[in-house]
Amino acid sequence: MNFYDVVIIGSGPGGYISAIRCSQLGFKTAIIEKYNQFGGTCLNVGCIPSKTLLYSAEFYHKAKNMFFKHGITFENLLLDFNQLMNRKKNIINNICKGIKYLFFKNKITPYLGTASFKDKNTLLVLNNESKIEKINFTYAIIATGSKPMELPFAKIDGKKILSSTEILSLNYIPKKLAIIGGGVIGIELGSLYNKLGSDVTIIEYEKTLIKKLDFSLSKELKNILKKDGIKFYFSTKVENIEIIKSNVKIYANKNKNEKINLICDCCLLSIGRIPYTKNLELENIGIKKNNKGFILVNKNLQTNIENIYAIGDVIGGLMLAHKAEKEGILVSEKIYGLKKKINYNLIPSVIYTNPEVASVGKSEKELKNMNINYKIGKFPIKALGRAISSGEINGFIKILSNELTDEILGIHMIGPRVSDLIIEAVLAMELKASSDDLSLITYAHPTFSEAVKEAALMAKGKKPIHL
Ligand SMILES: Cc1cc2nc3c(=O)[nH]c(=O)nc-3n(C[C@H](O)[C@H](O)[C@H](O)COP(=O)(O)OP(=O)(O)OC[C@H]3O[C@@H](n4cnc5c(N)ncnc54)[C@H](O)[C@@H]3O)c2cc1C
Repeated sequence: MNFYDVVIIGSGPGGYISAIRCSQLGFKTAIIEKYNQFGGTCLNVGCIPSKTLLYSAEFYHKAKNMFFKHGITFENLLLDFNQLMNRKKNIINNICKGIKYLFFKNKITPYLGTASFKDKNTLLVLNNESKIEKINFTYAIIATGSKPMELPFAKIDGKKILSSTEILSLNYIPKKLAIIGGGVIGIELGSLYNKLGSDVTIIEYEKTLIKKLDFSLSKELKNILKKDGIKFYFSTKVENIEIIKSNVKIYANKNKNEKINLICDCCLLSIGRIPYTKNLELENIGIKKNNKGFILVNKNLQTNIENIYAIGDVIGGLMLAHKAEKEGILVSEKIYGLKKKINYNLIPSVIYTNPEVASVGKSEKELKNMNINYKIGKFPIKALGRAISSGEINGFIKILSNELTDEILGIHMIGPRVSDLIIEAVLAMELKASSDDLSLITYAHPTFSEAVKEAALMAKGKKPIHL
């Protein structure tokens, strides 16, 4: 009899981590995955492949444009794109194997197949051999993630009109690449192909890159990417896309009055992601969704059916792997009876361009909208000894703190390694630290983290040392 205390549908970072936590808490646990590998979007077609390729592209770019400054030159620098893609494939396969091993070690029963609800305690799993297995459960956690959004006039064909999935597995480097949507995914993938030599144009409907970021970050990032050779169209709406022989023609309209036509080898549609609930047959048990298709949950991440929870991209909010993971842990512990909460304000966001962008807490715009008076400490990376010695001088660290209490309200960073540095900001805010607290601790020298100390001094109203 296939009976489990908890069944998780989807093995992305939300699903597989909640499965492990459920098992650690003593639940008989199963996980169901529709694809032929575990790990979800993040591992197979998201975070890991994009970051792997970004690393490779950065090495190539530096070898071509920066190494000579260090006295390192090459006779004949070559890029083996096949090897770059094969490396990515092997890395994904290895991590996937690691997840399978974790299931085995934690006595989690894995099922490969598509899950659909029969009733509120039964799932049917249709596997690749068209066999159906019935699974009974006390609790279920839906972690089925999201998929790329399409435009009504432009369906993703995987050849000329690509989603992030296909562009991460191309077998050639496009000479001209258009990216529709300057969000995090569009910017990272645009930056990747730009470093590999493509002529990249990003078309964005909004006036700026990534509206949710603190404005200073999006402005600085845009300027750096422009210097790298990426072209931008802002306030521009794509109205049609045509495939003409081996090219793609994009018809767009800037500021509602300037027609723009672009011809490129292929284009990436990165206009957002939609919840993935196809096949689940949620209507069989009456699980409610909002008007955008995201599953509705209460603050305990419980759906309107008491024993069924939902986490990660499928419920919306920040579409980030670590947000899905955090929710996976929370739900597992809720089912066990622990009382936990997630502070969504303290979930950091990162963009893995070069330089990296990372932020946590409130932006200036948000603080203004909330009528909170704040102080700013902003320190440029280029004033650090570490920056000068490494040659990585772009960016700044900006701290926003409460004018009255000095409590840190937001930290916004652009610069080398800020994807790791942001955790200091998260910890500080989690502990309700003041900018004074951050300026008083000792920072190792020479490190990029010293910019946090200097920005903290400035936020406190003191003078920085190195300006
Ligand atoms: C190109 C790209 C880069 C990204 N980079 C980052 C990054 O650097 N950092 C970051 O934090 N986030 C990143 N993300 C976002 C991140 O991948 C997602 O937020 C995260 O994967 C969401 O996790 P999840 O567990 O909710 O769902 P997913 O990872 O989407 O996993 C859902 C799984 O459920 C399975 N499934 C769906 N329906 C069924 C069914 N009926 N039966 C069985 N299985 C089913 C799917 O096959 C899938 O494997 C990136 C995304 C993309 C596309």
